[in-house]
Parts: sequence; structure tokens; C-alpha cells
Amino acid sequence: MSLDYQHVLDTIQSEVQPLLGQGKVAGYIPELSKISPERFGMAVYCLDGRAYMTGDADVKFSLQSVTKLFALALAFSREGDDIWKRVGREPSGNPFNSLVQLEVERGKPRNPFINAGALVITDILASRFVQPDLAVLQFARQIADEQGIDFDQTVAESERKTANRNSAIAYFMKDFGNLHNPVDAVIDSYCRQCSITMTCAELAKAGSFLANHGTIPWSGTQILGLSPAKRLNALMLTCGTYDAAGDFAFRVGLPAKSGVGGGILALLPGEASVAVWSPGLDPTGNSLAGTYALERFTTLTARSIF
Ligand code: GLU
Repeated sequence: MSLDYQHVLDTIQSEVQPLLGQGKVAGYIPELSKISPERFGMAVYCLDGRAYMTGDADVKFSLQSVTKLFALALAFSREGDDIWKRVGREPSGNPFNSLVQLEVERGKPRNPFINAGALVITDILASRFVQPDLAVLQFARQIADEQGIDFDQTVAESERKTANRNSAIAYFMKDFGNLHNPVDAVIDSYCRQCSITMTCAELAKAGSFLANHGTIPWSGTQILGLSPAKRLNALMLTCGTYDAAGDFAFRVGLPAKSGVGGGILALLPGEASVAVWSPGLDPTGNSLAGTYALERFTTLTARSIF
């Protein structure tokens, strides 16, 4: 049955209004704290090419940790299952930038979506590409079919100047032998990768290959095989929304990856990819209005993976 997604998005756009401004914009990256928490945009990209949008769906925002998904997909497509020798596949039960578990688990991060895991993925890419951040950018351009997608140098520099904790994580892992390239190079690349900006419309389109079992729907290009695509969806569900993945699955019921810029990419496998952006975060670091919007999306459409 073909759904009237435009009506659903417009309903959600009016329902979220009271929530806008209630969340807290990420302040630890100085440049991100300048964004208004009142913004809200949402877009749906259907695998048959139909696209729907509401609110600020055409406004660029900082993807931050959503790019961890692209970096992981790129690394997984090149290295296959070898990546799991260096990074795990379990929820961490700790904040995304925690150092605690790393000591006990001897420098092997719990999953590729916490910062430690993402830094290992950047390191894997750094051993393969001269400029891993550029490789991720080019990959993002390919999966979004949009050559204009770029870094935000100001945000990258802002994060780089304050990246002490990520540097500490990287040095810690290097000490355990789980970081092969120079720490500074890995952190530089990671900060640039996180600064990539997209609109919700672009992000929904970029995620569609993951909703389509690993193949870009409009070109038929296979990025990942069936099994790796399934595995990435599973990781998004169990680890993609910080330390709230259980509650997110309970409320929304879709695999998703969020970022501290307030963006969330969610997948309705076999059907569509959904992107939402609202910079005000809840205490777990997920977009407050964005999570609510996705909860309403699966409720109003009666679509989820369950
Ligand atoms: N660049 C951010 C950091 O490493 C990304 C965090 C996030 O979006 O979760 O702190």
C-alpha cells in the first residue's frame, strides 16, 4: 500500500512545535552551540524514488556521528569481517566518549559507533587511503548522489581545537596496539569527517542503500552485500543511538544512527530511509524532537521493523 508520507510529515511538523527549544544544543564543540534549537526538518526517501520533506529539510546541518555510519560502511565494504578483530559489536552501556571500558577491555572498543570504535575505523581507513576523510566525503557524495556535499572547515577546526578527550582515547588505544597510524593524523581526519554537512533530504537519500539491502536504489550499484547490509542495520538498532538504543528501539522500532548535531538517520528496510534534524538534544545526546518525530512516524504509518 502506498502511504501519503507528505500528510504524515506535515502532521509531525505541527506536533513537534511545542518540543522545539526544549532540548540542549551540544556545547562541547563551540561552533555547534551557535545553532538555534528551534530548527526542525524531516525527509523521507522511498526506494522507488519518491521523496517527501517538511520544515527545514533543505537546511544543511553538521552530521557529526551520523558520519560514523558512512565510515563504517566504507571500511566494511573494503575490509570485510577483518574489522571485527579490532572493534566489537555490543552496546557499550557507557557514554559515547567514555574511556572507562577501554582499559578493562584492553583497547578494543565495544562497537564502531562510540568514539573509540569510530577512531579505530578511521585508523583502518587511514591505512588504506591517503586522506581517509576525503574517502568518506567522496563516499557520502556517491550514496547521496550529490557532488556539492562538503566538510564544514569551521566546525572541523572548532572540534579539533577541543579534541582532548578523543585524543586521549586514541593514545590509549595506541598503547594497546589498536591504532596503527599517528594519533594526530587520525584525529584530524576524524574531526573533518564529523564536520560533513547535509540536508535531511540529502541524508535520507544517502541512507537509502542501507534500507535497500546494500544497493543504491536509483543506480543499482551494490555498496554492500546482503549480509553486511543486514549487519549494519543490526548495529544501528543495537548501538546507533548512544546509550539509549534500547529505549529508542522501544519507542521508534527502526535501525537508526544519531549525531550530536541533532540529526538522526532511520531506516525502514525494503521501503524507505528517513532523516530528521532538530539540534536540541535530550540528556542521552539524541535529538529530542527528532526522536519524538520518528516515534510519531512509525506510529502514524504503522510501519516499523517489528
Ligand atoms: N565529533 C563528535 C565527537 O567526537 C561526534 C559526536 C557525536 O555526534 O556523537 O565528539
